[in-house]
Amino acid sequence: MRKVGRIMYAKSKSRKFDGKCILGKCEYCGKEIKSCNAYQHVDGNNISITNNSPYLCKDCFEKRYNEHIKTEVEVFKDKLFRQFRYLKSETKDENEKNLIDKLVKIISLE
Ligand SMILES: [Zn+2]
Repeated sequence: MRKVGRIMYAKSKSRKFDGKCILGKCEYCGKEIKSCNAYQHVDGNNISITNNSPYLCKDCFEKRYNEHIKTEVEVFKDKLFRQFRYLKSETKDENEKNLIDKLVKIISLE
């Protein structure tokens, strides 16, 4: 199983990350990043893959693994949309349903 893991602690001392949010470097582009903002590929079935995965900045992680890491805004929007879908399914009022559709449209705009 592949999943995106946010680094919160160090796997080994050679990584220079000791669990605190300290300044480190992306192991791909060398850009300075805080360890708590670094990303590492986490393999749920194979701990050695996890341990050997480099610590990367967001851009390098997304390029290397061809995965989009959602921004906080995107995560927030997803939550809102789930709530709206739930509200829409709960109401029988057509006006309310229309209003919810309008709100979703507005929020969807970039
Ligand atoms: Zn990088």
